[in-house]
Amino acid sequence: MLKQILFSLSFILTLAAFACSINRLAGFFRMTIPAFPIRDIGKRIRLTLSVAIGQTKIFRKPVLGLFHALVFWGFCIIIFGSIEMVLDGLSGSEKVLKILGPAYDVLMASGDIFALLVGVAIIIFLTRRLFFHIKRFEGDEMNSWSHKDATISLSFILILMISLITMNLGYVGLMSHTGGNIEGIYPIGILLFSMLHQLSAETFGLIYEVSWWLHILLIFLFANYLPYSKHFHVFMSIPNVFLSRLDPAGRLSNMESITREVKFMMNPEATPVPVPSDYQPERFGVKDAEDVTWKNYFDALSCTQCGRCTAVCPANITGRKLSPRKIMMDLRARMKEKGPLMVKHGRDFSDNRSLIRDYISEEEIWACTTCNACATECPVNIDHPSLIIDLRRYLVMEEASAPGELKAVFSNIENNGAPWQYSAEDRLLWTKDLEICENYPL
Ligand code: SF4
Ligand code: SF4
Repeated sequence: MLKQILFSLSFILTLAAFACSINRLAGFFRMTIPAFPIRDIGKRIRLTLSVAIGQTKIFRKPVLGLFHALVFWGFCIIIFGSIEMVLDGLSGSEKVLKILGPAYDVLMASGDIFALLVGVAIIIFLTRRLFFHIKRFEGDEMNSWSHKDATISLSFILILMISLITMNLGYVGLMSHTGGNIEGIYPIGILLFSMLHQLSAETFGLIYEVSWWLHILLIFLFANYLPYSKHFHVFMSIPNVFLSRLDPAGRLSNMESITREVKFMMNPEATPVPVPSDYQPERFGVKDAEDVTWKNYFDALSCTQCGRCTAVCPANITGRKLSPRKIMMDLRARMKEKGPLMVKHGRDFSDNRSLIRDYISEEEIWACTTCNACATECPVNIDHPSLIIDLRRYLVMEEASAPGELKAVFSNIENNGAPWQYSAEDRLLWTKDLEICENYPL
């Protein structure tokens, strides 16, 4: 009974703290603007199955990809055991999901094996991070907190896996010594028990109880650490893939207000759309955190900081000052800074800082070639180029700020209807001294 009360209290505390974090993020989302409509549900489900569940993008590097995929699949399986622990803790029962019969055996056996595999994968990841100089994990945006955050999260997961293995060992040992019925199958637990069978039933009981509490309390703690960590992608990555932009890579979205204006210019006879009395001139493009779409912010929260995007970015590779990973990290950091102030003082609040310039420089914004390599490579389907384009839109349309070469192109388009500096009538002047057959169809 005492165990039940203690567990229920810690569970309620965990849920309350988690709800506060989610409510805080929901407040930030309310500051963003609408994105594209979510249609093509069938296509989205197929994409989620292939990219998120099948981890297809991760397998472009087969060996490391396999370890990453093992961690992801392991989480998916192990979560059943965690749900059972919560149900057991609340109800004061033991192995409540055993009613699933043979499926329970499969789930427990897979969870036990995956705990070992995930543990090994995490040791490899930690070793790479701590003792090897991996270029993908470096960069101006990767400050000491980014590295510490990754190490803390990986350590959390490692202890979770160790406690799961020892919990299963304790359970198998206790049941074997006391003649109880072992519910589920635990291959790793049985293997370890065969090596440690000389320990007493009390010792196995102690191992089981300590591991049980350590495991579940760590899950509660980790769940509340995640919203403030890069590992929040544990929650965000699957929905982010489902909510992917489905347009062909590189297709620019039209700005509704501009499209309306252009259509009206092309057909002045058309009745103009009436302007509402409370109309506020809308911002062109993105200057700050409140100008981004909810999907841009969802992307920023889903970023795993893996650096795969930056590793394939031609601008970054050729030494330009651009890292697509930094663009996502900057948006998340800026929202973290301004979000609470906007929630408190309203969306129009200004702290005299902005995403552009205080976080992302013009040099970075114009270094992008819009090749879409970053979005193609990103394992959680983050769409960096559309945010970069919107940052450019702000600079050009609100500040008339662009590199000199582009300004010349803009004037040419305005004056000549083409990017070149010649008027349309003069375009074929270069042919006038050529000996061209009279009958040649020009
Ligand atoms: S679209 Fe821009 S940011 Fe992305 S890889 Fe290409 S150049 Fe880099
Ligand atoms: S944007 Fe995608 S590829 Fe880039 S660091 Fe984040 S998760 Fe990795």
